[in-house]
Amino acid sequence: MLQTIDMSITNNRLTSEQYAENFADIHPPFESYSAALVEANRCIFCYDAPCMKLCPTSINIPKFIKQISTENIKGSATTILSSNIFGAGCGKVCPVEKLCEGACVYNLMEEPPIPIAKLQRYSTEKAIEEKWKLFSRKPATGKKVAVVGAGPAGLSCAHALSRQGIDVTIYEKESKGGGLMTYGIAAYKVTPDFCEDEVNYILSIGGIEVKYNHELGKNIQLKELQKKYDAIYLGIGVGLTRLLAVEGEDLEGVVDAIDFIYELRDKGFAPVSIGDKVAVIGLGMTAIDAATQAKRLGASEVTIVYRRTHAEMPCTQHEMDIALLDGCKIKWLSAPKEILGRKGKVTGLVCSVMELGKPDASGRRSPVETKETFTLDVDMVIKATGQMPFIKLAMENDFENDKGKFVIAADGRTNIAKVFAGGDCVNGGKEVVDAVQAGKDGATGILDFLGFGDAIVEHVYNSSSVAKSTS
Ligand code: SF4
Repeated sequence: MLQTIDMSITNNRLTSEQYAENFADIHPPFESYSAALVEANRCIFCYDAPCMKLCPTSINIPKFIKQISTENIKGSATTILSSNIFGAGCGKVCPVEKLCEGACVYNLMEEPPIPIAKLQRYSTEKAIEEKWKLFSRKPATGKKVAVVGAGPAGLSCAHALSRQGIDVTIYEKESKGGGLMTYGIAAYKVTPDFCEDEVNYILSIGGIEVKYNHELGKNIQLKELQKKYDAIYLGIGVGLTRLLAVEGEDLEGVVDAIDFIYELRDKGFAPVSIGDKVAVIGLGMTAIDAATQAKRLGASEVTIVYRRTHAEMPCTQHEMDIALLDGCKIKWLSAPKEILGRKGKVTGLVCSVMELGKPDASGRRSPVETKETFTLDVDMVIKATGQMPFIKLAMENDFENDKGKFVIAADGRTNIAKVFAGGDCVNGGKEVVDAVQAGKDGATGILDFLGFGDAIVEHVYNSSSVAKSTS
């Protein structure tokens, strides 16, 4: 990786060629149909396919691979997108090593698994590039649903509802759709331009109006939506990173990982300032994305500080390997104790050495502080210690909640009349693919609530037959 040496927080550390090289697609697509065919032909189309069981959206994986191997690329894209309308984006960002590819039977034979994500991208990226019209709307039902949040949960819900003839209005607080996909993921996995194309493709079904720059609780109120719509779906995700609650947290150079990644997505690489020596607190996917991108922006040293051990880490081994290959270091059993500063700016991070105690509610052993400490010489600290649910919004609107996470019934209904919820605002933050499934589940609940229960069978078990096409 290309780097420069500059001992301060600054932007424009690299040339445009260096940024392009550092942020190139980490998993390049197949270069030709023949290359995809070789991999598709390795699939043995397992009965009771284990890969499919681990897909949260239940994509019929052997079927779409078979369709690729028979040159039915439109059919393949339809199979994928019927189950997961974000199938193209998920092919880039899903942690497949712990999902479909991790379950592929080839792992048992100690051979590389079928590259399911890459094959998924092969069909779905063609669908987006060539604007294939694979779905149509049923005749209008006259029903109107408001969806709050144009992220994976909200758009997945909106698309499923629109297919059944429901008119949907999405209220989105940002100026673009895609949520976490657009604003919260490393650029070398998925670019903002791709996200925009994917959102436009999803919306091309029609029947979905998006009102951007509309935030619930600010420019729109729940009560107005309840009066205007037959049902409401909340897919509002989660908010800012948890506070570290240590001295020095307000120093210049302490940033929130979500803000850091958002700025990168919004402004591009050169304008974003980065320190020379950076500490990243946490070891989830967001922490890895922040650490690797800090390195790729030109930081000379990036140290990830994690309070537990390798056995408890929330990121996957694959993600951690990316960080290690980028040259990031990891300090295990370490927790921030104090951020040091001079003239209002970060100069160091004091960490406590931890040891593991008894298991907590998650079943993982709790980190316990020892008397030992060490100090990292850093000029920037990026906080990636998990995001907080919108507790104020939940409390102000009398939602039943668990520390800000909306409590829902099996059909997705909240305790407030006509209001459903799903995705990160309910589970506290999972993968994009989980949010897509939550959106489908929400749509199913809403269709049932609106008296279109029959549509559910078709919606869940859709197996569209699309004419053979080689694109
Ligand atoms: Fe094909 Fe692997 Fe799935 Fe079996 S487990 S159907 S070989 S992708």
